[in-house]
Amino acid sequence: MRQSKLFTKTIKEIPSDETSFNAQILIRAGFVDKLSAGIYTFLPLGLRVHKKICDIIREEMNAIGAQEILMPALTPREIWEKTKRWNNFDALFKLVGVDNKEYALGATHEEVITPLAQKYIFSYKDLPVYIYQIQNKFRNEKRAKAGLIRGREFSMKDLYSFHTDKNDLDSYYEVVKKAYFRIFKRCGLGDITYLTYSSGGAFSKYSHEFQTLTKAGEDIIYICDNCQVAINREIIDEQKVCPECGRENLREEKSVEVGNIFKLGSRFSDSFGFKYTDENGKQKEVIMGCYGIGPSRLMATIVEIHNDEKGIIWPKEVAPFLVHLLYLKSAKEEVKNTAEDLYRKFNQANIEVLFDDREDVGAGVKFVDADLIGCPVRIVISEKTINQSKAEIKKRDSKEIILIDIEDVVEYVKELMC
Ligand code: ATP
Ligand code: MG
Repeated sequence: MRQSKLFTKTIKEIPSDETSFNAQILIRAGFVDKLSAGIYTFLPLGLRVHKKICDIIREEMNAIGAQEILMPALTPREIWEKTKRWNNFDALFKLVGVDNKEYALGATHEEVITPLAQKYIFSYKDLPVYIYQIQNKFRNEKRAKAGLIRGREFSMKDLYSFHTDKNDLDSYYEVVKKAYFRIFKRCGLGDITYLTYSSGGAFSKYSHEFQTLTKAGEDIIYICDNCQVAINREIIDEQKVCPECGRENLREEKSVEVGNIFKLGSRFSDSFGFKYTDENGKQKEVIMGCYGIGPSRLMATIVEIHNDEKGIIWPKEVAPFLVHLLYLKSAKEEVKNTAEDLYRKFNQANIEVLFDDREDVGAGVKFVDADLIGCPVRIVISEKTINQSKAEIKKRDSKEIILIDIEDVVEYVKELMC
């Protein structure tokens, strides 16, 4: 991608109507634009990152046997009446159609997936089934001050599993737990994301959240350093003890919930009369689990954690481009030609590169932009480097600058990052 053609530009000033760090920096660096409180547009750079996060999630979901679908975001009132959530789901956005029928914008999709699964699942032979989607959700959130951490429209991956019994749910639940840890690790949040016990509803004592430590978080958790798990403050009644080892000395931290997993049991299958026939011809209720992750919240969380005073430092798997190639304007034609040539070679090698080919922008601004945008590797081609037949290479997360022979650059970057 040529930066001269990029639709957006970086912004110098911190947007005055935005208080959260993640949104401020994502707006300044040209990843997102704010339309209204809790409502954002994903611009070319931001959409690339969002897509990479979604693709990581997809890979890990497909690897545990889940199949992707896409459900509608517009949902009729009746289905919410069935589960008694039309009046009990505070954040539901409601609207009226020309037919005077009432609708809600999808805030979650148990009400859609349950009757959908019911159309295809009849017998124990049809189970288990794992279905997910990645889609925008709508919630009339009261607090929309945390930028993309709490949107009114935001993306969610929601997986639903259907089982013959509790044991089968229990074992898939553990499989999903592991997949979630792989996802957060690949997004650069591995070491600071804790499996967190929270209240579980009627079917199980606990559900689990995946909480990432950050001062931008709106949750408080208590960590057990023995077991590397945490417990959410919201569920602690009297005494703070580790649910796994009983330890009392827990560490308090601020965190953000990047995902959660929940054993629903028959809460939703009961509402829709969703049963299957077992081996003995008996009708039994289908047992369900649900598992959410917020890709847009994840993107904001990554930014809250991976940054310095100059800008974002993207982990390589989610970076908009692996390489930011900077051409510093020179009267010597050879400089531009070498940069153009290198740009071609990166593209041929399938290494994603953002090429700052702008003629009307000075070196200082190019360096500032590169730090703000935060691609993992910066490569500079200038008169100075060309005079030595070299390119200058710097990793975004390091101060060290090294010079590499022009013809070795692509190979060098491959070895460094791939
Ligand atoms: P929270 O307690 O933070 O409001 P939640 O318990 O309502 O989250 P779920 O309804 O289970 O969350 O949604 C699944 C996932 O979707 C969450 O783990 C989170 O990653 C994401 N998510 C939920 N609400 C929002 C929001 N308003 N903006 C962005 N992401 C969200
Ligand atoms: Mg919520």
